[in-house]
Amino acid sequence: MIKDKTIIEVNDLIKKFYDVTVLNNINIKIKKGEIVVVIGPSGSGKSTLLRCLNLLEQPSSGKIIFEDINISDKSANINKHRQKMGMVFQHFNLFPHLKVIDNIILSPLKSLKLEETAANKKATELLKKVGLEDRKDSYPSQLSGGQKQRIAIIRSLAMEPDVMLFDEPTSALDPEMVGEVLDVMRQLAKDGMTMVVVTHEMSFAKDVGTRIIFMDDGKIIVDTDPKSFFEDNTNKRVKDFLNKVR
Ligand code: ADP
Ligand code: MG
Repeated sequence: MIKDKTIIEVNDLIKKFYDVTVLNNINIKIKKGEIVVVIGPSGSGKSTLLRCLNLLEQPSSGKIIFEDINISDKSANINKHRQKMGMVFQHFNLFPHLKVIDNIILSPLKSLKLEETAANKKATELLKKVGLEDRKDSYPSQLSGGQKQRIAIIRSLAMEPDVMLFDEPTSALDPEMVGEVLDVMRQLAKDGMTMVVVTHEMSFAKDVGTRIIFMDDGKIIVDTDPKSFFEDNTNKRVKDFLNKVR
């Protein structure tokens, strides 16, 4: 892995829904291997920013450059680039009618054109990694929330992404299941994955994050390292927010 190589660059990003400006001139450069934790109050634009990164939302103006290609350009083959960005949502989004294993191999078969044997092998390895190999023939409805989210994560990983985007992956979970999902994310970070994580889990932000972005009202207010963010922050908006979530 080439560290210090920029993997995602956001230039002058503006996103409006009708006449409401939800992202107001965002600029970020994310390097390979960074664990960027995005925090901020509800409605500040965190989800919209993540969704703009992989073009689930079309920017109103500005550019998203991913692996040196301007993917916000109309001529870009967005499906091809999006495959390289895994995304995990608050609500798992597993296919309820498919078994765990079939949820995992669906995209590799379709988009990566893997043979079924190879796809199954890969899926089984990933299941082992998160301790769920015995659930491969279960349906999502037979799993706990924490198990579903671990499956959703490895389903993304099966596509061999270069970056993983997480939008509040533990917010819908019962408290006792948060840890098992964060553990998987911790391991992924250790393995060198580039990650952008929207979360309210401040211990994760502190221990695993290499960089903290604080958003408020569609803008990046603070972009710094975790130590500075949690120990030396003087920004009143940040202080108020931290007092609420702690
Ligand atoms: P966060 O994830 O930080 O809570 P969001 O990115 O979801 O914030 O939302 C930012 C703002 O954009 C909110 O005011 C929200 O109501 C608005 N918004 C988000 N998605 C849409 C949409 N599809 N249409 C209109 N407004 C939206
Ligand atoms: Mg959100």
